[in-house]
Amino acid sequence: MLRAGADPENLGPADFLCNFCRKPWTDDRPMIEGHQGNLICGGCVTLAYTEVVVHKAGVIDAGVGEGPNCVMCLERRQDPRWVSPVYEDQAVCARCVSQAAGALVKDKDSRWAKPG
Ligand SMILES: [Zn+2]
Ligand SMILES: [Zn+2]
Repeated sequence: MLRAGADPENLGPADFLCNFCRKPWTDDRPMIEGHQGNLICGGCVTLAYTEVVVHKAGVIDAGVGEGPNCVMCLERRQDPRWVSPVYEDQAVCARCVSQAAGALVKDKDSRWAKPG
């Protein structure tokens, strides 16, 4: 997501914030982009991956509208979703967490490693 008040004509890394922790994009905080400019940072991918991929926990949709939709794919899937502990309207589904983890592993500059 873009920082509130960011100048769209003159965007820098500090204007790109992780939807889940609202920290800015930096050299040691890689970002993965989803739909509508939504972003998840490496640190949040680590937390989300640990919960929904390693522990298979998180918000499970039993068909009665549990939790917000995934902000990365905007879909409402049967996968478990990780909800930001700070911004509870922000969720990411297990499929998007796995895709983000795969992209971070491929990007050697990210120095990101799968937890667990
Ligand atoms: Zn984050
Ligand atoms: Zn998703």
